Amino acid sequence: MEKILQKIVYDNKRYTEYGNVATYIPELRKANKNDLGICIIDMDNNIYEAGNCNEKFTIQSVSKPITLALALMDNGKDKVFSKVGMEPSGDPFNSIMKLETSKPSIPYNPMINAGAIMITSMIKGRNNGDKLNRMMNFFKNLSGNKNLSVNEDVYMSEKLTGDRNRAMAYFLKSEGILTENVEDVLDLYFKQCSIEVTVRDLARIGVNLAGNGIDILTRKRLIDEDVSKVVKTFMVTCGMYDASGEYAINVGIPSKSGVGGGIMGTVPNKMGIGVFGPSLDEKGNSIAGIKSMESVSQKFGLSIF
Ligand code: GLU
Repeated sequence: MEKILQKIVYDNKRYTEYGNVATYIPELRKANKNDLGICIIDMDNNIYEAGNCNEKFTIQSVSKPITLALALMDNGKDKVFSKVGMEPSGDPFNSIMKLETSKPSIPYNPMINAGAIMITSMIKGRNNGDKLNRMMNFFKNLSGNKNLSVNEDVYMSEKLTGDRNRAMAYFLKSEGILTENVEDVLDLYFKQCSIEVTVRDLARIGVNLAGNGIDILTRKRLIDEDVSKVVKTFMVTCGMYDASGEYAINVGIPSKSGVGGGIMGTVPNKMGIGVFGPSLDEKGNSIAGIKSMESVSQKFGLSIF
């Protein structure tokens, strides 16, 4: 298996040349464009890795399905989906456009920035510090990595330059949809996006989702089964930005990508997959990462369709 993964990394590495690292968050410019790594963890906790699999990167939007799971368990489906929709937007992840034109003006889904910011605002806690602790513990339990932490440089970089996210959050507040303190919510959101992970962390979260929320090692239930199913469905319909349809056809694995170059895939009852390749295509997806997921899916027959 590892041999096959090494070949997949070798074959797809050339695609890193055709994209670029994200620059709108200044700190992300520092990534090495040619990195490509992959990790697969199956339900028996066999771990297979290839390429730049020890590289740390920030989780960015791959965090969105995870905080969605927490917010759903904290608030229930009815409350959450009264404030965020369930439909693909067809627009880029940071688009503001539909917020004002759709009625009610709730974000289209929890995988675009406006929706994810709403989701973060619904995480329960006595204060922001308590919310951050609950969130970090959730990520740590799901990844089985007690050492997960926020990359302070990326967090500060996002906080200083995140005016587009700020604009969306203030708009949602003005509409009475977001009810918490905007700067507190954004602070938590920027920290959530700046959690540092490796492909192994993503693969472990992915395999725990593959088993519908029961941790493969401790056998503890971390996510309710119905919540896990909702999360995976969003990964299929909206997980790869406005390329989710094409990805579903070519790869067919519930996945979420982030502008740090990460992709997390979850193959129901089979495995979790983590990929890292910071060179992005024009839609914000890892260019060689997508190609690698395509190869993995075809090689092992993993499409869920
Ligand atoms: N922190 C990033 C932002 O809010 C996340 C974007 C992404 O990975 O899609 O702009």
